[in-house]
Order: sequence, then structure tokens, then C-alpha cells
Amino acid sequence: MRACRPIVLFAAAFAALVSAPAAQAPPPRNVILITLDGARTQEIFGGLDIDVLRAGLKKDETVEQTRAYQQYWAETPVARRARVMPFFWNEWMTAEGSVAGNRARGSRFGIRNSKRFSYPGYAEILTGEPHDAVIDSNDNTRYPFPTVLEVLQRRLSLGRDQVAAFGSWETFRWITASKPDGFVVNAGYQAFSSGDAEATRWSREQFEAHSPWDSVRHDMFTFRLALSHLKTARPRVLYLALGETDDWAHGERYDRVLQTLALTDAWLKELWTWLQSDPQYRNNTSILITVDHGRGRTAADWGKHGEQVDGAQETWLAAIGPDWPRRGEWADAPDAFANQVAATLARTLGVDLRQDIANAGAPIEYLWGR
Ligand SMILES: [Zn+2]
Repeated sequence: MRACRPIVLFAAAFAALVSAPAAQAPPPRNVILITLDGARTQEIFGGLDIDVLRAGLKKDETVEQTRAYQQYWAETPVARRARVMPFFWNEWMTAEGSVAGNRARGSRFGIRNSKRFSYPGYAEILTGEPHDAVIDSNDNTRYPFPTVLEVLQRRLSLGRDQVAAFGSWETFRWITASKPDGFVVNAGYQAFSSGDAEATRWSREQFEAHSPWDSVRHDMFTFRLALSHLKTARPRVLYLALGETDDWAHGERYDRVLQTLALTDAWLKELWTWLQSDPQYRNNTSILITVDHGRGRTAADWGKHGEQVDGAQETWLAAIGPDWPRRGEWADAPDAFANQVAATLARTLGVDLRQDIANAGAPIEYLWGR
């Protein structure tokens, strides 16, 4: 009995010694990639485009009578964009973020592929290079090019739940990985099994809330399922691919494009608020937001994109992260491209993507303030 006492005391002291530094060690970094399909630079940087709204008026309708005008019109581009995305512009990009692609301020961001439609755009973002000779349709096809999601999973030895992709468009089941079933992918109308009762409900209700499109569910379900997975499985790498901005634009529903951007802004606020409330993610998560392609510049072709549509090669990138000191809108900045997104994401987790994908675009140095 007597001999045990010092051993117990010693063990307690030793435990305190080893646990104290462990509790203070910062958790490893996380990354979140978000894409808003085909959201134009014109709306992101300028809000409501009055020419586009006017072109879609019904007979005898004035622009002032439209709900979109009443909700989103203001005199200047800076005021207009903040009416559509108040969190993004008035809070996030003012206090935390950095955003490239406003050509009026001498910042150019764009895609390197020549196709200017979705699959080639997402492939460029996720694999770090355009594949024009091979990827030439939006078909549900898997290609052999590894994505940054797969590279990060392997290099960081992450489990199945630790890398996750949620998409509104079903084709993300094929786009996100060169090999199936390595990590969580949930896209299009697809059930999601989860221990979270809320997620189970969203999973069921997605089939009860038909969108106008066969292969794209409403973004709300994608966002809710992704947020649930974030909170419960706590992935290091999350990809959230929202899609309605593109589909409403193809349907020439400009009002719905603006409403979708406004909804997305509210979701971004909810996501950021949660991240900043959580010890694993607070000030420890790098977020990149971009798009697969732009669209036409004029009231005649704003709904379109593709090889022949001028302006559809122009996109934008927003970045929020603990390693990136730049704040606000880029001005007179170096050009950057979608093929640099993958290596940029990887670098924030300490991974050199180009050891795996030799031709991937370089990380965007300017983000790190050099
Ligand atoms: Zn499209």
C-alpha cells in the first residue's frame, strides 16, 4: 500500500505534464471549397444588371414594377452587390476575405480550358489543369485524372468521412474523383444516410421538393446535408458545389438568379458563423469560392456560356483563410486562373500538389501576400 502512493502521485503528475501541451497544440488546418455554378462576375461585383432585367420584362411591365428591382436595385455597383450579398460584401470581404476577378479594378481571374461549360470547368478546378482533348461533354463519365480531393485524402491519410463532396448536380458523383467510393460524395437527387436526424429529414425531403431540373436538386438540400456532415463527421476537406445559379440563368429567370445568390449569401453567413464557433474550425479553415465558368456579357447572351460565348471565360475567386493576409477586393493584381485552385487548397494543408499532378497550376502566391 505504502509503496503505491508515490507511484500514483508520479503518474498523476506525468499525466498532467503530457496532457497540458497536447491540449494547447493547434488542431490541423481544414479546407472548404465552394462553387456557385456559372455565377457571373457582373452580379458578384455589380449586383443587379439593369439591362438584363429590362430585357426580360413582360409586355407593358416597367422595370420598377419588378420584384427584383424593388429588392436589389441601388445606384452604384458597390451598393447593388451588397443588396444581393450583404454578408459577403459588408462583413466577410471587409473583415476577412479577399476577392479576385473584378476587371474594373484591374484584377483578372479566369479559366484555362477552352470549353466554357461545367464539367471541363470543374475538372480544371479539381485536377489543376484543363483537359480539353478528353473532357468535352457534361455526361456522367469518370475520367482517369486524380482530383485534389483524392490527393489530399491519400497524402494526409484521411478516412472516408474526412473528405466529403456535396453537389446539387448529380454529375459531381463522377467529377469529384477518378476512382469511386474513396470518400463521401452525395450529389443530385441522392439519399444520404446519417446518424443526424436533421440530415435524415433533408435526405427524405429532397425527393418531395422537385426542382425544375432532372439532374439538379435544390441547393438548399445540398447545403443542409453538407453542413450536417461538417458538424457531425468533422471533415478536414469539404467541397460544397451549389448549382441553381446556372440553371435559373439557362431558364432566363434573372430574378431567381439574384434570389439564389441572396440565399447563398445567407448560407455562407450561417456556415461562417458555425465555423467560427467551433474549436476545430475557428480561424483554422481556408475557404475558396469560385465558379466553373462565366457567361455572356450582354442582355442578349447573359444566360449562355460555352466555347463561342465571349465573357464566359471570365470568372472570380474569393478566399478566406488564416494564412492569407490580403483583405478586400484585389486591385491591379497579378492574373490568376482556375487551374491554380487545387494547388492553392493543397498548400494550405501543407501538401505540394505538383508532386502528384506535375502539370497542375501553381498555388496563387498573391494570396499569401508575397
Ligand atoms: Zn450551364
